[in-house]
Amino acid sequence: MDLKVCKMCNKLDYEGIDLLGVHICEECEYDIVNIDVKDIKYEYYKTMIKHIWIEYLACIN
Ligand SMILES: [Zn+2]
Repeated sequence: MDLKVCKMCNKLDYEGIDLLGVHICEECEYDIVNIDVKDIKYEYYKTMIKHIWIEYLACIN
């Protein structure tokens, strides 16, 4: 497997998932799925995922 950089935390990672062409490490993936809306990181993840979507949609159009 290739070594990739996590879009959320910039950590180098072999595992994790590719979401719309962007790599997310296992830790961040777990965080995103389990995060509480009151958590300070929630807004950060929400904003990042919005950006990933916008970039993805810009690519396919
Ligand atoms: Zn990460």
